[in-house]
Amino acid sequence: MKKLAILGSTGSIGVSTLEIVKEFPSRYQVVALAAGKNIDLLQQQIEVFKPQIVAVQTAEDAEKLQQRIKPSNIEISCGIEGMIRCATAVAAEMVVAAVVGAAGLVPTIAAIKAGKDIALANKETLVTAGSLVMAEVARQKVKLIPVDSEHSAIYQSLAGQRREDVRRLLLTASGGPFRQYRADQFQNISPADALAHPNWEMGKKISIDSATMMNKGLEVIEARWLFDFPGEMIDVHIHPESIVHSLVEYRDGAVLAQLGIPDMKTPIAYALSWPERLSLDLPHLDLCKLGQLSFSSPDLELFPCLQLAYDALASGGTVPAVMNAANEISVEAFLNRQLSFTGIAKVIGKVMSKHQQEELTTVDQALRADLWGRHEARELIDRGEKL
Ligand code: MG
Repeated sequence: MKKLAILGSTGSIGVSTLEIVKEFPSRYQVVALAAGKNIDLLQQQIEVFKPQIVAVQTAEDAEKLQQRIKPSNIEISCGIEGMIRCATAVAAEMVVAAVVGAAGLVPTIAAIKAGKDIALANKETLVTAGSLVMAEVARQKVKLIPVDSEHSAIYQSLAGQRREDVRRLLLTASGGPFRQYRADQFQNISPADALAHPNWEMGKKISIDSATMMNKGLEVIEARWLFDFPGEMIDVHIHPESIVHSLVEYRDGAVLAQLGIPDMKTPIAYALSWPERLSLDLPHLDLCKLGQLSFSSPDLELFPCLQLAYDALASGGTVPAVMNAANEISVEAFLNRQLSFTGIAKVIGKVMSKHQQEELTTVDQALRADLWGRHEARELIDRGEKL
């Protein structure tokens, strides 16, 4: 019986994780759930999974939840402290880190320091402070297994191989809903257009990141830290069908890939059960029915966010944290119609070029860079000049 703490339990990954737990009650038990503002869904999850500790974002919601689940001996807390309590819950063996954004960093580090294995779905954690997070993973000798489908595919394609034989990592990208747009069509993209992802079901932030291809940029940086290969060895292929989840090319020309239908349950279950595999009741991949798969190179001029991520990775230090922070603010502003779709990359680029890069030596420093990036992006957007 593996005991789990799930951070971000009401989001898309959290909900899928709980579906797997429900299917395999003899293998998994939930001991802690941390959510944001969706306390209705959290309440239902509490009733089904009976965790010992839960956390919500605000003190008001914690109070509301306390009233609703009375009488109960469940510990309810809030804010970042609450999330840390869930991440470090004594009974938890593995923490599923599925909070969206850089907010996942502090609780994930706390979990690692407490000796928990990590199923990592939050890519911003590695983007913001990848070198520090991976150093802590090594120090504590915990396992960190990626949940992101691309990284799960690479993890599987590297298994049993020698790292010195690797020539490059190839991340696939659906290309998002605008992969066939002409340059003049990008300016008028609305939030509703950008939220309509063709293959994957996911939350708003990641849907917009997928549409700008910043999602792939974040994943390139994530791959750099997870697998410890430099950015020059990580390439991106557009693959609209999302069947080949990613590939590893070796120096003898061999390429290993992991394929499957686009369903996050497969990589989530793999992270929970590694090195075993669970029997999941999903449709089989039928390549004959699909007939063909297509691949192309990304257009970095039409999707400048991907280039910005490569630039941030090359600069290193605090730059990726700043880029990620500016992206989070820009995506939020786009969803609130304060910023155009093309404005997202412009804000990020401006904030990055204003930043004085520093070597990254502490988590506090990463958090300060994150705050600075947020503040600068917010100011630029509020000024509203030519974005
Ligand atoms: Mg992904």
